[in-house]
Amino acid sequence: MIHAQAESGDQPQTMKIPYNRNHRATNEQHYVEEVLSEAAFGAPYPFQERCRQWLEQRFESEVIVTQSCTDALEMAALLCRVGPGDEVILPSFTFSSTATAFALRGAELVFVDIEPELFTIDVEAVAQAVTARTKVIVAVNYAGNPCDTAALRRLCDERDVVLVEDAAQSMMTERGGRQVGMSADLTTVSFHNTKNIHCGEGGALIVNSPEFRRRAHILAEKGTNRRAFFLGEVDKYSWVDLGTSALPSELTSALLLSQLEDAVEITELRRTAWSAYRRALRPLAERGLFTLPVDPEGVRHNAHIFHILVNEPPVRDELIRFMRDRAISAPFHYLPLHRSRAGRRHGRLSGHGDVTDRVSSTLIRLPLWPGVPVEPVVRALHDFFGVGFDRDPEPVAATRTGGPVDASPSGT
Ligand SMILES: *Cc1c(COP(=O)(O)O)cnc(C)c1O
Repeated sequence: MIHAQAESGDQPQTMKIPYNRNHRATNEQHYVEEVLSEAAFGAPYPFQERCRQWLEQRFESEVIVTQSCTDALEMAALLCRVGPGDEVILPSFTFSSTATAFALRGAELVFVDIEPELFTIDVEAVAQAVTARTKVIVAVNYAGNPCDTAALRRLCDERDVVLVEDAAQSMMTERGGRQVGMSADLTTVSFHNTKNIHCGEGGALIVNSPEFRRRAHILAEKGTNRRAFFLGEVDKYSWVDLGTSALPSELTSALLLSQLEDAVEITELRRTAWSAYRRALRPLAERGLFTLPVDPEGVRHNAHIFHILVNEPPVRDELIRFMRDRAISAPFHYLPLHRSRAGRRHGRLSGHGDVTDRVSSTLIRLPLWPGVPVEPVVRALHDFFGVGFDRDPEPVAATRTGGPVDASPSGT
């Protein structure tokens, strides 16, 4: 049994090829220094404001920058006014924050299975799980890929249910040329250091439904109408509703802005590595040794995760150990929430969780970051499965400028 690295790839950077390595943004030092040298920590929060504007353009919607995606999910739960007696439908294959945000409000969690291609929430299973008590459906975009929001939207509109999209992993994924996350009533994003675009700890709440906008700002401002005060709409501000302290510091926002400015470049570099993996691993997949991730049509994904699914759980555990012996970090991912201690206390499974169980026990993630040396990882997989490896004639990794890099593990 392997205990480490279960959740989001959090781990000490002791491996020669770590699972994740954060991009150094062009303007990061400059922006952080600007905050420090001018002691500009307070109102009018210029870096937070610039991040907000950048994100509002991207999402074509109202955005509140938060200290984490967890914060944004907790705000979503408050905005939906869920409480005891209400049911919230969500996939079992997700990070705990998707669930705990709603469990905190006393709602009953109803876990459903994922679909077998992109591992996003199974719409059929959702339709089966809906009851008169269903208040919210939370869709999760696994590996940055969008879920079937059109079908979920219809379901929610028919039943007067709020649609929340946990797009923690989806920054820069596009469908039909537009950022995903615009169809839900509320969408949440993460800028945690394990995500593509990061500021250490950070997130955002995208408030697509106008009905939530006013209260969303009050929640983020500790329950006060401080924002209305700054906009000149009231002549003093006071405590008006429930609230929390969700807004990030200027240091965090400075770092985030520098990353957002490099977001296109980061995404390009990740996609280059993702495609190199897929090309180099196709011969092994064709032998039936594992399955490769799907590159969905009409979607330009952000290459957040490159995963393979082996045939049997013991093979997966052995492979993780084999990679670790080569100082390559290749972790598994979510354990089914419906089987977790808290999941059993706060929720139940609707239908079966067959795909969740299979994916959870056979999935392994390969190291993926801008400039990751792909070749030693690919070579290790060939060695593990006892298949000879011919060097990919095309460059297998990219540097910041797009050229090939030295692919030896010691060069990382
Ligand atoms: C990373 C992640 C979260 C939590 O994000 P934080 O910013 O660390 O709070 C929530 N949901 C999903 C699906 C995630 O991948």
